[in-house]
Amino acid sequence: MTSINVDKYKLSDKTARLTAKDIIPMIQSSDSAETREFLQKVSELLIDYVNIQNDRKEKILDFHHPEDMKKLLKLDVPAEAVTLQQLLKDCAITLKYQVKTGHPHFFNQLSCGLDVVSMAGEWLTATANTNMFTYEIAPVFILMENVVLTKMREIIGWNGGDSILAPGGSIANLYAFLAARHRMFPDYKEHGARALPGELVMFTSDQSHYSIKSCAAVCGLGTDNCVMVPSDENGRMIPTELERLILERKSRGQIPFFVNATAGTTVIGAFDPINAIADISEKYNCWFHIDAAWGGGLLLSKKYRHPRLSGVERADSVTWNPHKLMGALLQCSTIHFKQDGLLISCNQMSAEYLFMTDKLYDISYDTGDKVIQCGRHNDVFKLWLQWRSKGTEGFSKHMDHLMELTEHQVRRIKQQSDKFHLIMEPECTNVSFWYIPRRLRGVPHDARKEQELGKICPIIKSRMMQTGTLMVAYQPDDRRPNFFRSIISSIAVTEADVDFMLSEIDRLGQDL
Ligand SMILES: *Cc1c(COP(=O)(O)O)cnc(C)c1O
Repeated sequence: MTSINVDKYKLSDKTARLTAKDIIPMIQSSDSAETREFLQKVSELLIDYVNIQNDRKEKILDFHHPEDMKKLLKLDVPAEAVTLQQLLKDCAITLKYQVKTGHPHFFNQLSCGLDVVSMAGEWLTATANTNMFTYEIAPVFILMENVVLTKMREIIGWNGGDSILAPGGSIANLYAFLAARHRMFPDYKEHGARALPGELVMFTSDQSHYSIKSCAAVCGLGTDNCVMVPSDENGRMIPTELERLILERKSRGQIPFFVNATAGTTVIGAFDPINAIADISEKYNCWFHIDAAWGGGLLLSKKYRHPRLSGVERADSVTWNPHKLMGALLQCSTIHFKQDGLLISCNQMSAEYLFMTDKLYDISYDTGDKVIQCGRHNDVFKLWLQWRSKGTEGFSKHMDHLMELTEHQVRRIKQQSDKFHLIMEPECTNVSFWYIPRRLRGVPHDARKEQELGKICPIIKSRMMQTGTLMVAYQPDDRRPNFFRSIISSIAVTEADVDFMLSEIDRLGQDL
């Protein structure tokens, strides 16, 4: 298998010259050979892309700078219709230059991999092309959403409650914030800031995802009132610091109302101590949210759930992104509430044109009024189908497998301690490390050496992108300069691929 050949997808002479006006739905036909031919060629291309992506000899990307890339692509939207043959070529070129995020050597993002069943689900979803706001137009998908979300709440450890799929974990966190404020100050919905007896403050760790802070900016608290609680050297929130900061803000007359714990931080994969934070949230009457967008998948694992997520059932709300560790296709993000009824009472606007109360069926199935969107994409089918393809047991083993591969990576890093420096023992599949080039081997590890190691990361990264053989992310944090942080969340990855990651970094960087 070689890379996408943009000229391979040839339509018959007759079909090639046609345009969109000659196929369904523009022609009034329910069976058109030309439509079928066009769609079959598109699916052939998509299947080729899946296959190429899984060929370890293939490059992950064919990198070009934006100005050069513009020249390689024909991106203009023309005045006149282009032919079906041209559309196929457009599709092929698009995939030719796309980064293959499902390639087994792509370790760059929290969402890696291409689960073929989940993808099939996304194809079906695209074809069904419906909106998720009412049972009226999405009966099957609404019922599926119910089943899948109920199952996820059961796994969290709740009976009852309520959930919704949101467009990303960031928006899921926003839903938690809104529900928390609504429970404490139900008049806010009608009266706005007038309903508040003072300034609200929220608390999250300095390692948490920026979407938590964004809630404070978006919802009128101001980021000054999102208090960043210090974390320990492993990136876990320090509970005594949380309590100290709550008391400090209370002494200023402010109103602590929301505490977020992160289960799997984005950069280093740390799990905040849930039970200790739950105790403090209870003591000060705060809503307790857990952002498990990244680490939530481990709720499925018998082997790794504890102690990382012990106490999760004490939360008032939990964000959990199946599109990350569980490998569902983008996007698939969920937010769960222990208490039923809050989502609807917080967000309902009762639009009369959509959510009539005199409908034919039980309108509690019209989920659209629980959200701040109107239309909602169907993100459940791909997860439902994927879940059925593995069973809960299979999903559990899938999570264990990702963690075992991470343990393998850590062992290999330690075995090659001349070449690699492990920054900390990982709790999730994020592995933070430095590569040590030849000239720095044997030099004692101190702050000066860290600065040098930090400078090497962007050089190796640019070499990775130019050769196209590997992708691993790097970033600095507030404790250290640049370091590599690899992610294993693709089910395609094997121990050999993990070994390749390390040997390829070594190959690309030893002369530095
Ligand atoms: C990824 C992530 C988010 C944001 O999720 P999106 O789906 O990208 O919006 C929030 N919190 C944590 C901990 C994350 O890792």
